[in-house]
Amino acid sequence: MIMVKRPLAALALAAVASAPAALALPAQASAAPAASASPAAAASAKPAAARVDCAKVKCIALTFDDGPGPYTARLLDTLKKHQAKATFFLVGKRVEKRPKLARRIAREGHEIGNHSYGHRSLPALPDPELAEELSRTQEAIRRAIGKRPRLMRPPYGHTDARVRAAAGELGLAQVLWTGTTLDWSLRDTRKIGDTVLRLARPNGVILMHDVVPQTVKAIPRVLRELKKRGYHLVTVSALAGPGRLAPGASFPR
Ligand SMILES: [Zn+2]
Repeated sequence: MIMVKRPLAALALAAVASAPAALALPAQASAAPAASASPAAAASAKPAAARVDCAKVKCIALTFDDGPGPYTARLLDTLKKHQAKATFFLVGKRVEKRPKLARRIAREGHEIGNHSYGHRSLPALPDPELAEELSRTQEAIRRAIGKRPRLMRPPYGHTDARVRAAAGELGLAQVLWTGTTLDWSLRDTRKIGDTVLRLARPNGVILMHDVVPQTVKAIPRVLRELKKRGYHLVTVSALAGPGRLAPGASFPR
């Protein structure tokens, strides 16, 4: 019974805490649909997730799990070249190994989420270990980039009500996906690219892994093609919009 009450209390608090941010949003809601029209306008915009209103334009969120790894820098170069934003769900122990790379991800306007500390299946863990997997990663990321994530993705997509509640206690919303490329098993640049393009749809959240080198190689073609189809490549938070990523919530389902 206690376990039921605590998450609910946390959710109620979170709803109160997030209200001012939601109220503040309409003031900044004016999107810049013609971002390419004027370099001056682009330069004056914040480098973080260019203000795109995904309620009005076609958006997609590319997400990369399990880094930072040896191919992440190359992926960041590609994303920068195409002015695309993405979301990286980082593994805590790998952030401790490559903190500068985590810092670069954040500095270049991408979003960072918590993907646990040791990439274990969270529902199998007892409460203290489950909490530690998430909190240790929150701290590793905070040390690297100066702030704690608001999003988490459970390893393997394994989750349940207890995992969501533990995430909620740390101010985290759970993020799953609308399409997974299974890139780790395909291991083929062409096939991975084709799969992403087949899974692409408005407001889609696509799961990939930047620790798979063929995925990183597939991204230039993916970005060119998605842009040709009229997509804005945005972070998960930009895609979700206000109110959908409250602590303990699950997105997109
Ligand atoms: Zn993973």
